[in-house]
Amino acid sequence: MKAVVYHGARDFRYEDAADPALESPGDALVRVTRSAICGSDLHLWNGLPIPDRGFAVGHEFVGVVEAVGAGVQSVRRGDRVFASCTLGCGTCESCRRGLMSGCAVTTAGGTRNNVFGFSAAYAGGQAEAVRVPFADANLFPIPEALSDEQALFLTDILPTADMACELAAVEPGDRVVVIGSGPVGSLVQSCARVRGAARVIAVDLDDARLLRAQERGCEVVHPGRENLAERVLELSDGRGADAVIEAVGRPELVSAALGLLRAGGRLAVVGVLFAPVEIPWALVFMKNLTLRSGLVNPQRHVSRLIPLVEQGRLDPTELITHRLPLSEAAKGYEIFAERRDGVLKVVLQP
Ligand SMILES: [Zn+2]
Ligand SMILES: [Zn+2]
Repeated sequence: MKAVVYHGARDFRYEDAADPALESPGDALVRVTRSAICGSDLHLWNGLPIPDRGFAVGHEFVGVVEAVGAGVQSVRRGDRVFASCTLGCGTCESCRRGLMSGCAVTTAGGTRNNVFGFSAAYAGGQAEAVRVPFADANLFPIPEALSDEQALFLTDILPTADMACELAAVEPGDRVVVIGSGPVGSLVQSCARVRGAARVIAVDLDDARLLRAQERGCEVVHPGRENLAERVLELSDGRGADAVIEAVGRPELVSAALGLLRAGGRLAVVGVLFAPVEIPWALVFMKNLTLRSGLVNPQRHVSRLIPLVEQGRLDPTELITHRLPLSEAAKGYEIFAERRDGVLKVVLQP
């Protein structure tokens, strides 16, 4: 089969790769119909140090089941499916708690990354086909009413946005600040509105992204031109935000975000961040702030997101700005990494 294969930073090649095969009774093989490039794929593109080479990248994909192992019960050959980007075994204690990100089996006791497309152990879905381990825990049938492209967002970023609102405990009437108006930030804005936030304040340095946020019903702040903390106070009757969600993944934004909260406010950090973060702890202590973060477990979120997408309350496909053949994936990465042509989401078709 053809796949987008990792050879190092900025060196993703569309080339022949070994056809995936069923390796365990719980596996399924999926023929990919659509995949997407994610902000977290950019970490690989930009040189995140990892030991493996020669595996297919990509963790956001949908397709059709081609074969299942003898132990698979929830999907059958021919089913349209989407996969959870984070792989769980479904039965260990962590998985039973809904934390597949900490699955004892798929992380090999915490020593391995269990997201598709970041290692040779779990080759990714920017490929013509992919093996999905523990299919009963990680594959979901796509309801008739949903298109492949709608379902593509259920693999990662729509659940991430829903998780962000959950971690920040967004409630009706809240004033919510969303730092970052990229693909994840945009969906956080939409999810916060669905949860009844009275005001959603979008923050970004990119005017095109702010314009889109405005069209989504957000107030917008450009921190390069305005004082963010002052604007948030103005927009919250001088109190500060009830909740802030950081959807960029920069250490200095985490500390700045804490400064935007009212007493008792909640910060959720869902931007991917590997660097140390300085926390103004006196502020957290004196103002009774809550700080939460985490890797998404889409399995926990999809059953409540599917009806919202079906009913049009959430329309993640509004983010698709580019559609390219899988063979042009590297071009898609360049466009996304350099933020050319107003890019938000690049969808790849095998
Ligand atoms: Zn992703
Ligand atoms: Zn598990």
